Amino acid sequence: MTARGVRLDTPLKELKGVGDVLERGLARLGLVTVKDLLLYYPRRWDDYSVVERIADIHPGLVTVCGRIEHLESRRSFRNKRLSVTEAIIADDTGTIRAVWFNQRFVKAQLKMGERYVFKGKFEFRNNNLNLQSPTFERDNGRMEPSIVPIYSENSAVTSKTLRKLIAQVIRLADELDDELPETVRDAENLVSYAEAIRSLHKPVSDQQLQAAKERLAFEELFMLIASALALKHDIKLETAPAIEFHAADAEAFLGSLPFALTDEQKKAAWAVLQDMTRITPMNRLLEGDVGSGKTVVALMAAFIAIRRGFQAVLMVPTEILARQHFATCQRVFADLDVQVGLLVGSLKPKEKQQVKSSIAEGSVQLVIGTHALLEQDVTFASLGLAIIDEQHRFGVQQRRLLKSQGAAMPHVLTMTATPIPRSLALVVYGELDVSIIAELPPGRKQVSTKLIMENERAQMEQTVDEAISTGTQAFIVCPLIEESDSLGVKSVKAEYERLANGVFAHRTIELLHGKLTADEKQHIMDRFKAGEIDILVATTVIEVGVDVPNANIMIIESAERFGLAALHQLRGRVGRGDKQAFCYLLCDTDNPITLKRLRAMERTSDGFRLSQIDLEMRGPGEIYGARQHGVLDLRMANVLDTKLIVRARTAAEAFLATGNVVEYPKMLKRLNKLKAITTLD
Ligand code: ADP
Ligand code: MG
Repeated sequence: MTARGVRLDTPLKELKGVGDVLERGLARLGLVTVKDLLLYYPRRWDDYSVVERIADIHPGLVTVCGRIEHLESRRSFRNKRLSVTEAIIADDTGTIRAVWFNQRFVKAQLKMGERYVFKGKFEFRNNNLNLQSPTFERDNGRMEPSIVPIYSENSAVTSKTLRKLIAQVIRLADELDDELPETVRDAENLVSYAEAIRSLHKPVSDQQLQAAKERLAFEELFMLIASALALKHDIKLETAPAIEFHAADAEAFLGSLPFALTDEQKKAAWAVLQDMTRITPMNRLLEGDVGSGKTVVALMAAFIAIRRGFQAVLMVPTEILARQHFATCQRVFADLDVQVGLLVGSLKPKEKQQVKSSIAEGSVQLVIGTHALLEQDVTFASLGLAIIDEQHRFGVQQRRLLKSQGAAMPHVLTMTATPIPRSLALVVYGELDVSIIAELPPGRKQVSTKLIMENERAQMEQTVDEAISTGTQAFIVCPLIEESDSLGVKSVKAEYERLANGVFAHRTIELLHGKLTADEKQHIMDRFKAGEIDILVATTVIEVGVDVPNANIMIIESAERFGLAALHQLRGRVGRGDKQAFCYLLCDTDNPITLKRLRAMERTSDGFRLSQIDLEMRGPGEIYGARQHGVLDLRMANVLDTKLIVRARTAAEAFLATGNVVEYPKMLKRLNKLKAITTLD
C-alpha cells in the first residue's frame, strides 16, 4: 500500500518506518527520494525457487527449507576473535548444520521452531559437512517470493529493509520516464521501463528478471551509441577541404622510408587517404599496439595533405613527446621539403609568437605541439589535417578552435595505443570510424617479461646491474609521486633515494616526475637519450611514446597497481632497438586473482588480448573510467556482450535514420547530456 500523497520526489523520511537513523543510512547509499529508491538496482538475486529435501542434498550450492531445532552463538575455539553462530535445521527427511562466522546478528534474526528457506554452499570444512553462511528467508508456506533481490547494504540498511520500503512505492514505477522510444521498444521486443524496474525489485520468475535486465542493458548501450552517432552526424554537417590523392605523393613519401609498410599499415593508410578526398570531415581512429607503426601512417597522410597545399598539425599530450615527434619529423621530412614547426607551452614568448605567425602565414606546413595549439590566437593559413595522438577526443568545439577564420573544418585522425576490442570501440568511440593495425612490423623481438616477488628483488637488481655494465640503460617506474603510507605504495622519491644510495650507488641515476618543469624534464630526457644516465627512475610521465632505443630494461614497481593496458604501454618503452629487452614486474601481493592477471603479461605481448583480459577481470570502469569520465558508467550492460552491442548499434542507426528523434524530447535531452560527456576532455 502506498501512503497517500507519495510521489517520485517525496523524501524517503516520509515513508512509513523511516526514522532518523534509517534516513541517514539511506542517504549514505545515495538514496534520498522515492525515485532514488526505485532506481537502486539490486546487486544480485538469490533464487530460492528450487528447494531440495535435506536427505537428497549433495555438496555444492543448495536451497533447503526447514525448522530451527537448535541455535547458538559462541566464540570460536581456534580463534577467540571469531564468533560462530550455529543452527540445526530439520525437515521431514533429515537435519543439517548451518554455520555463520562473525555474523552474530543472525542469531537475533532466526527464531527457534520457525521455518525458513536457506540458501548457501553445503561443503566440507573443519571436519564437518555444513551449510556455510547461508542466506535465509522466512518460509511463508507459499514458497514465495522465490527470487529475492539483494542490494548493497550498510550497517543501518539491510536488503530486507530496502525490500519493505520499495514494496511501499513500487507502483510509482509507472510514473518514471521511459526514454526509449516505443517504436524501438516494440521492434526489439523489450518490456517497458516501468515493468523492468518492477521486475528488478520483485521478479516473479527468472525469465521475467532476464527480460528486465535485457531491457535496461539494451537501453544503456542504445543511448550511448545513439549519442555518439548523433555527434557523428553533427560533424558530417561541417565541410572539410577535399584533399586529392596523387599516387606520386605517396610514392615520394614511401620512397623516403628505410622500410616498406606492412599490409595493415597500407590498409589503414588507404582508409585515411580515402576519407581525406571527401568534403565531409574525416573522423577516424587509428588503433594499434605500441610500436605498430601508427605514426608513420599519420605522417604519410600529413605529407599528402601538405603536397596538396594544406597544413597539417600533430597534437600530443606532453611536451616530451612533442619534442620527440618534432625531432623525428625533422629527420623524416628533411629531404621532402616540408617545413616543420614546434608549438609548446614552455617556448619563450618571442619564440612562440614567431611560430604562431609562421603558422598563420603558412610558411610552416607541419606543426607539432601540445594543447598550446588550441589557444585562441593560433590560426592556420590552410589547415587540412589534424592528427591527435593518444585519444584526446575531439568534438565539434575543439575542431572549430583548430580551424582558421571562415575556412573549412580540418580532417581529424586520432591515434591510440590503448587497444580496445572492436565491440567496445563501437560503444566508446561510436562517432569514429575505426582502423586497426593489428600486426607489428617484422623482426620485432618480444620483451621478455617476468613477475618478481619481493624476495626475488635483490637477485633481479643484481641481474640488472650486470646488464648495465654491458652498456644498456634501464627505466624504473613507480606508481605515484608522494609517499602514501596508507596504500603502501612506494614513493618514487623514496625509491630513488634507496637505489641511488644502495645497489646502484655506483651508477648514474636520475629522477623524472610530473612536478618538474618542462625544461627540467627535457634536460633529463636528453641526457638519458644521449646515454649519460644509466637508470631513470620515473612516474608514469614516461608512459606515452618516449623512444630511447638503448634502454632495454623496464622495472615496474607495485605492478599490481596498474591495469594491463598501462603495463603494456610502459613495457612498450623498451625493446625499440635490436637487442633483447627485459621487463620486470615487481609485485607485492599474494592475491591469486591479481597474480593471475599479471601473469598474462609474461605470456602475451598482444595488447588487444591483454586489454580483453583486463576487461574481463576488472571491468571497463577501472580501465577506461578515468579517461572517459563516466561514459562507461554502465550499470546493467556488459561491454563484453558483443551481441547486444551490435543489436543496440543497429537499432540506434535505424532509429536515427528515421529522423524521428526530435519527437522524443526526453531521449534528446539524454543524448545531449551524453554528447557533452563524450566530447570534452
Ligand atoms: P606507434 O606510433 O604505433 O607506437 P611508430 O609509428 O612510432 O609506432 O613506429 C615504431 C617504430 O617502428 C618506429 O621506429 C618506426 O620507424 C618503425 N616502423 C614503423 N613501421 C615500420 C615498418 N613497416 N617496418 C619497419 N619498421 C617500422
Ligand atoms: Mg606513437
